[in-house]
Amino acid sequence: MSKAYVQQEVWFFTGSQDLYGEQTLAQVAEQSREVAQALDESDEIPARIVWKPVLKDAEAIRRAMLEANSDDRVLGVITWMHTFSPAKMWIAGLNALRKPLLHLHTQANIELPWDTIDFDFMNLNQAAHGDREYAYLATRIGAARTTVVGHVSNPAVTARIGIWIRGAAGWAATQGLKLVRFGDNMRNVAVTEGDKTEAELRFGVSVNTWAVNDLVEAVAAVDEAQVDELVALYEREYEVVPELRAGGERHDSLRYAARQELAIEAFLVREGAKAFTTNFEDLGELRQLPGLAVQRLMSKGYGFGAEGDWKTAVLVRAAKVMGAGLAGGASLMEDYTYDLTPGQELILGAHMLEVCPSLTTDTPRIEIHPLGIGGREDPVRMVFNATPSEAAVVVSLADMRERFRLTANVVDVLTPPQDLPHLPVARAVWQPRPDFSTSAESWLTAGGAHHTVMSTAAGLEAFEVFAQIARTELLVIDEHTTRRGFAETVRFNQAYYRLAEGL
Ligand code: MN
Repeated sequence: MSKAYVQQEVWFFTGSQDLYGEQTLAQVAEQSREVAQALDESDEIPARIVWKPVLKDAEAIRRAMLEANSDDRVLGVITWMHTFSPAKMWIAGLNALRKPLLHLHTQANIELPWDTIDFDFMNLNQAAHGDREYAYLATRIGAARTTVVGHVSNPAVTARIGIWIRGAAGWAATQGLKLVRFGDNMRNVAVTEGDKTEAELRFGVSVNTWAVNDLVEAVAAVDEAQVDELVALYEREYEVVPELRAGGERHDSLRYAARQELAIEAFLVREGAKAFTTNFEDLGELRQLPGLAVQRLMSKGYGFGAEGDWKTAVLVRAAKVMGAGLAGGASLMEDYTYDLTPGQELILGAHMLEVCPSLTTDTPRIEIHPLGIGGREDPVRMVFNATPSEAAVVVSLADMRERFRLTANVVDVLTPPQDLPHLPVARAVWQPRPDFSTSAESWLTAGGAHHTVMSTAAGLEAFEVFAQIARTELLVIDEHTTRRGFAETVRFNQAYYRLAEGL
């Protein structure tokens, strides 16, 4: 069975104590091993689940947590109190833990053996109160965690654990993420700005700027043979318009786009970076605004934000990792324009060029058209419609001065009601939940950005896990949202997040 995160692990910790005697503790070990194994074998679980010996005292718990912290393979830890594990024993360990935490509230058996149950059985299977003792302590010391309840044979349980692992993987991906900015922010734009030091502190991402002329040099240095190879790949894998194909009158523009892709990727590899931004106002000697190059790199898993928007680039990278192995994809997106037909309102999202083809199952067309902004040669780009997707999500990250705010809207991506023969960019058409006006009003009330990541692979719940691990505000607009409730949440959060950070 293939796991999306083949190199990463989740450690399974079982809590107990010494009072029970050897025989019971041997049963605890055996049964917890079976629970861990059932999780490991589930297709819903995208990382290896590694069972660890039963924890019976404070020092062992603290040691186990420190080992989890220091092992880079570990995405997070699952804890389960099969028996009663007096929770003062967990204080030092939970205080030391720096990895994401899931509390699994389960038990070995499904049905109670009504006709044979005796006190030995009760003694062994007492998670019902053992987990309450543990959760009391975890709540008292403020341990951020996801709690999942139910038997591991229940698909809803493994699905939720799987989503938690995806959120933890997104978190792991932003820890130590290096982000390359070619140039700075688009002039005068507010929401794409932000506190890069706070971002490193909060999400672990290191955001730095390189001169665009460094990239110009890299573009010039690309080997012609590599360009030949990549252009041939474009012609094989995409529907390239005749004027761009080998022998076509604008073939040189396609070659230049390939050169940009090779140069940017080599640059990112050299810097160990998995995300980047560009800025059409600062292109140096670049002949085209990178369009096709950016689309291709996003489809390879790189995070990207346009106009210097490093925060959205972080989200795109996290979404790529959280959605690994799932149908669908993730891309920079921008709410562009509306169809305001009453009762059938639609949002048309796109960007100047840079929408990731992971959002489509069609074969994109590679085309060339003028771009009325930036004053460069016509850029090459992929054009396609995003494939319909239920319960996709658009998420923005905004800097609210004293903290970051994530805003998410659950949306349904639809087939455009008509062809768009004159629109020369990739696009997505969607209906926001719960309805257009509640969604847009709430988004504007939240101060959400116009740039988002659109994810049709990882859904809202993975972002919820990510936000919880990052201890970052997440405002959700979905089928349950009401105007009044949302506005109140925004107001309460203003106070809560200030208090939570300390005064
Ligand atoms: Mn933009």
